[in-house]
Amino acid sequence: MTAPTLPGLASAAPTPAAAPRPGSRAARMALPRSVDVLKEVAAEYGVCVRPLAMRRTDLDTGLTEVIDLPCGATREDKCAPCAKKNRQLRQAQIREGWHRDDEPLPPPEPATEEQSSLILFRAHLEFSRDEASRACQWDQVEDLDEAIREVEEAIAAEGLRGRVAPPHATVDEDQGDDDTGPRRKRSTRRRQDAPELPRRKVEPRTVGRTYTAADGATYRPSMWLTLTLDSYGPVRPDGTPLNPDRYDYRRAAWDAVHFPRLLDRFWQNLRRCEGWNVQYAGCVEPQRRLAPHAHFAIRGTIPRDILRTVAAATYHQVWWPAVDVQRYTVERPPVWDEDASAWVDPDTRQPLTTWTEALDAIDAEPVHVVRFGAQVDARGVMPGTEDAERTIRYVTKYITKHAGDVHKATTDRQRTHLDRLWRELRVTPCTDRCANWLLYGVQPKKAHAKLKPGRCKGKVHQRDTLGIGGRRILISRDWSGKTLSDHKHDVRAWVRVLLGVTVGLDGVDDQGATVEPVRHAWELARPDDPDVPAMAHRLLRSISERARWRSELLAAKDRAAQLPEKNASTTEADDKTGEGL
Ligand SMILES: [Zn+2]
Ligand SMILES: [Zn+2]
Repeated sequence: MTAPTLPGLASAAPTPAAAPRPGSRAARMALPRSVDVLKEVAAEYGVCVRPLAMRRTDLDTGLTEVIDLPCGATREDKCAPCAKKNRQLRQAQIREGWHRDDEPLPPPEPATEEQSSLILFRAHLEFSRDEASRACQWDQVEDLDEAIREVEEAIAAEGLRGRVAPPHATVDEDQGDDDTGPRRKRSTRRRQDAPELPRRKVEPRTVGRTYTAADGATYRPSMWLTLTLDSYGPVRPDGTPLNPDRYDYRRAAWDAVHFPRLLDRFWQNLRRCEGWNVQYAGCVEPQRRLAPHAHFAIRGTIPRDILRTVAAATYHQVWWPAVDVQRYTVERPPVWDEDASAWVDPDTRQPLTTWTEALDAIDAEPVHVVRFGAQVDARGVMPGTEDAERTIRYVTKYITKHAGDVHKATTDRQRTHLDRLWRELRVTPCTDRCANWLLYGVQPKKAHAKLKPGRCKGKVHQRDTLGIGGRRILISRDWSGKTLSDHKHDVRAWVRVLLGVTVGLDGVDDQGATVEPVRHAWELARPDDPDVPAMAHRLLRSISERARWRSELLAAKDRAAQLPEKNASTTEADDKTGEGL
């Protein structure tokens, strides 16, 4: 027997409201949308949800075909399957470089005779250009520049890496533009001071030390390091300041913008101090207080107190004009004067200080110095352990997210903290060409009419970057000896071998030999071109293809597992199955 219900309270009782009346709006809305499920299934099968349609024309037969290329996004809000693939590639890259015990790259081959003679020819041209330039024979200089360009193209075509020398300023610039004119007299004083650290000659070695235990077993441990920035004021566990008015947002913003330079200096100093070419792979992430910090896998071991000493001694000086007084606002900005070809005050029409003048006016002090905080975490990691794998997952945990999405602001206090930081980042100059300089009464380097004072499009000014504007993945040159696309190729090559496919799409087989090259012309197809099917049709087809392909792959793996000699290669590639492609 049920208790009598008072009128008006009935709806509040926990009645089984789960099943709305069939045919009602609520019932319709409770059904999942088929297009959403399509995207979910696509993600499950690793199919890119916003593929790029490319039209491929076979140049021999004239046949055209529209082919979907994955978008290759690295952020999951753009395309989760592609971001996931990218993360797996990064993990493979970190895994491969971390504990290796041989040098990743063989030394370059010796130069050929043609290559050497081209360099000699380039040297003669340089000599003649210098002579002509001293004699003010500008037309000759221009001719020689043209010749130099041609020789440098030939040098590149001969297969030499990199530029032989930086390009010369053009003749106009040689004759006195204020940016490239005589060097400013005080520039030498503004070099980065060297930190107080022991200095050694850096050997060309990237592999760490081997340790031998009492029983004769050898170990080559590696390391894991976290570097943070200084404190800007005490914070609560949720990352927000205890006293927002005394939290140093200005310094937090400048530190975030210049953090990459500080990290570069750290590696440079560490290599000099240790005397070998230390290699690292890591990433920059925001902490809960929204300041960046960096995690690194280091190949080999370095004593912890050396890491601490180098971090404490490392700093980066910013030799920029002062930004103490903001003289203009976005609402009342300086204006461009076409006749003066300069930014001028809107009232007095006086030109603003030029970049060169502003630099010359800098005192002996840099406008900003970035340093690390006291917290330096470092520990040893043994190769092949679960700890090593867990650490790799930890490094790559957030690389599919925007910096601003790593710690979502969920309370008003957190939103206010983010807003205050962002307000500061919006007016912090990002580079010497930043349009924000105009707010401080300074014309940035190479100022032009199209600048928008205070509205620079630089990444660090955007809310979701938290001032972390550049690359967030930092991998040193001799880490695995491979680029990300090399790693990508590895996964593909592995699958080809397993499926028994020997001819690549690009006309190159797995041994690198060219087989009957098919010449193709590629072009971007527009979504509304008549030969491009609807996006949903393309996704459906890709999912079907991928599902069939995946079961084929699993069958091939089972077959391979039954052949004992192939066991090793299968287990190694296990985690790549299906998703790593
Ligand atoms: Zn994609
Ligand atoms: Zn900027």
